[in-house]
Amino acid sequence: MSLFANHTTFLALCLSDHPDTPFEITTSGCQIRTRGAGIVEILPLQAEANTPALMLSAGIHGNETGPIELLDRLLSAIADGRQKVRIPVLIVFGHLPAMRVQKRFLTTNLNRLFTTSILTSSQVAETEPARAQEIMQISVDFANRYPDFTHYDLHTAIRDSAIEKFALYPFVAGRALPASQKQLLSNAGVEAILIQNKPSSTYSAFTSSVLKGESFTVELGKVKPFGKNDPRRLSKLENVLTALISADTPMTNLATPATPNENCKVQIFYVCHEIINTGDTFTLNIPEDIANFSAFDDGYEVWRDNRQSYRVEGSPQYIVFPNSKVEPGQRAGLLIKPA
Ligand SMILES: [Zn+2]
Repeated sequence: MSLFANHTTFLALCLSDHPDTPFEITTSGCQIRTRGAGIVEILPLQAEANTPALMLSAGIHGNETGPIELLDRLLSAIADGRQKVRIPVLIVFGHLPAMRVQKRFLTTNLNRLFTTSILTSSQVAETEPARAQEIMQISVDFANRYPDFTHYDLHTAIRDSAIEKFALYPFVAGRALPASQKQLLSNAGVEAILIQNKPSSTYSAFTSSVLKGESFTVELGKVKPFGKNDPRRLSKLENVLTALISADTPMTNLATPATPNENCKVQIFYVCHEIINTGDTFTLNIPEDIANFSAFDDGYEVWRDNRQSYRVEGSPQYIVFPNSKVEPGQRAGLLIKPA
């Protein structure tokens, strides 16, 4: 079957020369239609008023193929009627040109561009800012119609990780992590949640701070080329997403959120320091290839420049996303502490 504008899968269309070819699919239970290149909206034919909804994104970094393939499988199952759909779903494949060449990005990191200034700017021409603007516009439109939404922005990491699957909960003043989300993520195989302490310009930060959704960036293991991912490594997440979309079981139902049970083993961490590349004299004293969640003891100097330095104080702190090669002013890593 070639349901996706003469391609057998949505991913194949996205990787083709004309990823913006529109299509529409109607199954017995839902309608699927394109909203832009790499972006589809799935609406149940009998949508209830005030229904909870789901935003799922992958490929905001083009080489993070595992979650892209997962969402593509999900969409194929919806399109050929195997997967029931009871709630509205927006699926976003983020950076199509980078996906085509299996690179993280082309010019600049797309996941630092989800800002209201780019959203409202009238002249955006460069690849990544223009794509961030398009994704934000479509997300705003979806959230206006379905304000009670959850967003999982799915990624994989460049490096090894002592904790393979973890989520980041973006900072929004005055809110706390809902117990039901903790349980859902635990069911999905997520082992740790990092509570962020500052606003940021990631896609999930935008959908939570501006659009008021329950949003997470979810890290799901290590980067692999297309076709080299083992679907079994993401099977728990796949089960949770299929159950959410079909609103099947109480433990995975956004309309009647579950309360955590004793199987909820998610560790909670708080971000205690955001490492910023301060410019020419900035030195990160952390090996580039170190695994995420590596510990640094009291007194360890994590970074320095010619004016200041940062040392771990008191109890050990753990590093995630260390990367000294980011542009000045950008994040070179996060230091976190267990709750
Ligand atoms: Zn990523």
